[in-house]
Amino acid sequence: MADENPQSRVCSDIALNLGNVMARIDQAARGAGRDPRSLTLVAVSKAFGENAIRAALSAGHRVFGENRVQEATAKWPRLREQYPDVELHLVGPLQTNKVPIAVKLFDVIESVDREKLARTLALEMEKSGKRPKCYIQVNTGEEAQKSGVLPADADDLIVCCRGPLGLPVEGLMCIPPADEEPSLHFALLGEIARRNGLKTLSMGMSGDYEIAVQFGATHVRIGTAIFGERPPPHPPNI
Ligand SMILES: *Cc1c(COP(=O)(O)O)cnc(C)c1O
Repeated sequence: MADENPQSRVCSDIALNLGNVMARIDQAARGAGRDPRSLTLVAVSKAFGENAIRAALSAGHRVFGENRVQEATAKWPRLREQYPDVELHLVGPLQTNKVPIAVKLFDVIESVDREKLARTLALEMEKSGKRPKCYIQVNTGEEAQKSGVLPADADDLIVCCRGPLGLPVEGLMCIPPADEEPSLHFALLGEIARRNGLKTLSMGMSGDYEIAVQFGATHVRIGTAIFGERPPPHPPNI
């Protein structure tokens, strides 16, 4: 008889989904003449609880992304004690007042997008001695509601972060506009990376990661295709 325990069904779904996504990344990489080992799957576990994350951990996955510092602080310290080889990425906007927590918790901060934040990160890294890798987030679609440095200002920010501030800048990240052909945005991000000598490109989500792989992504950030539709956010306090 089928296993009727909903918890274990969710867990096996997540393991299956992970396997499917990895197989598709592998195939997309080979199709583009790339080595699949040059790709890292960042499993974006935002809005999902410990059980869902544990399912992915049990399946052997170790690289995760969260978009909110507060939520990540509630979920990850305990999980990391048990799985010290986890690599945790911050993929959401970072406020300067949360920089100390973020530097402590994350291995990669993918959302560095302005000089003030970069300065605060540099000071905190000096103070704490911990140096998470930094990606510069570029607002390739120049959308008012989206974070990220404008493409025209990206070179200056990259130079400032790597030079005077001495941040460990490894690459770039973008989130293309939902209603546009993503490939143009992936190509633009690749171009900015090339002219700055950066090798890491975090781009591609559940709906477009195979295209991102074709355009040179080194990291794809995938939530829904692994964990399922996200539960709605908590109702607002009345
Ligand atoms: C939520 C999120 C993702 C994952 O999106 P899916 O479409 O669920 O795969 C990737 N990147 C960022 C920055 C996100 O906030």
